Amino acid sequence: MHADLLKVQGESGVTTKIGKAAYKRIATEEAWLMKDIFDRYMKLVETKALKDPAFESLWGYYGTSPSPRSVATLRRILSLGDERIADMDASGIDVQLLMHTAPGVQVFDAPEANSLASASNDMVADAIRKHPGRYAALAMIAPQDPQTAAKEMERAVKKLGLKGAVINSHTRGEFLNDQKFWPIFEAAEALDVPVYVHPSGPPVDMAKPFIERGLDGAIYGFAVECGLHLLTIITSGVFDRFPKLQVVFGHLGEGMPFWIPRLDYMHAAQVRSKRYEALQPLKKKVSDYLRENVYITTSGMNWEPAVMYCRQVLGNDRVLYAMDYPYQFEPDEVVAMDALPVSADEKKAFYQTNAEKVFGL
Ligand code: CA
Repeated sequence: MHADLLKVQGESGVTTKIGKAAYKRIATEEAWLMKDIFDRYMKLVETKALKDPAFESLWGYYGTSPSPRSVATLRRILSLGDERIADMDASGIDVQLLMHTAPGVQVFDAPEANSLASASNDMVADAIRKHPGRYAALAMIAPQDPQTAAKEMERAVKKLGLKGAVINSHTRGEFLNDQKFWPIFEAAEALDVPVYVHPSGPPVDMAKPFIERGLDGAIYGFAVECGLHLLTIITSGVFDRFPKLQVVFGHLGEGMPFWIPRLDYMHAAQVRSKRYEALQPLKKKVSDYLRENVYITTSGMNWEPAVMYCRQVLGNDRVLYAMDYPYQFEPDEVVAMDALPVSADEKKAFYQTNAEKVFGL
C-alpha cells in the first residue's frame, strides 16, 4: 500500500493520495472539452435543433444540472491547467492521453466541424507544450468530411505532434463501416497512428428504450452503441482492406472480448447460410481481428476479474490502463490496478510501455 497519507477527493469520496510507482502511470482515455464547443452544445440542447434525445440527455445533464457530480465534472473537463494537473498528482497519474469528449464535432455541419476540430487540436497542442511530460493527445477530426478529416489528422500528427485521432463513435447515426469514411482509416494506416473510437450516446434510431429507462449513458448505452460499432468495423472488412490499421476501444473493448466464442461461431454460421447480404466472408475469424487490430483500455472498468480475463484472451500487450477522467475520477481504482496479480514487467506494460508503443509516446 502507499505510504503517502495525504487525502484526495475523488468523485465518490475521500481517499488516500497515491504515490509514485516503479512504472509511469499513463492514463489513456482522459476527456477534455473546449469551451467554445461546450457553448455550441448548449445552444443545440436549448433549441433541440439536432432532434437527438441522447445528445440532449447527455449535455442537458452535464451542462445544466446543479448536482455536485455534474458541476464538478464540467469544471474539471474544461480545465487543461492547474486543477487537472493537481488531480493527476493526487491520483498518481504521470501522463494523461487527452481526447476531446463526445460527441466531439460530429454534431455540427462539416465546415463548422472542420474549423472547430483544427482549433481544438491547436489548443490541446498548446496545453501539451505548457505542461511538458504530463500530457499527450489524440486529434479531433470531423468524419462527416472524410477527406478533410484525413488531412487534419496528418497535420495534427506531423505538425502538432499528436498521437492519432479520436472519433466519438457514430456521426449522426452513421458508422465507420460505411466505405465513405475509409479515407480516414487509410490515412491512419499510412501515418502509422491508431484511431480511438470512443462512445457517444445511442443514435436516434436506437436511443428510445435506453432513455426511457435512464440507461443511455455510461452505465450501458454507450457500451452497446460503441460495441456494435466495433463489430460493424470488423464485419465490414475494414481490417482486410487495411491490415496494419490499429484501433483502440475503451471500457474493456465495450464488452466485445466477453463475446468471442459467440462472435466467431455465429459469424461463420451466418456467412455459410448466406442469410445476410451484409455478412460476407472475412479473411480471419472475428476474434483474430480483436487480437491483431484492436487495443482495449480499462477506462471505468478497473475491476480485477474483468481486466485479468481480457488480458488472458487478448494478450497482455493489448490491454492498456485508462481512468476516464473526469467522468470516473476514482483514485481507489488506481490502487486496485496497482494490486493486479501480474509480474512487475506485465504491470509496467499495462500502465506504461503498451501505451508508449501504441501511441508512440
Ligand atoms: Ca471516456
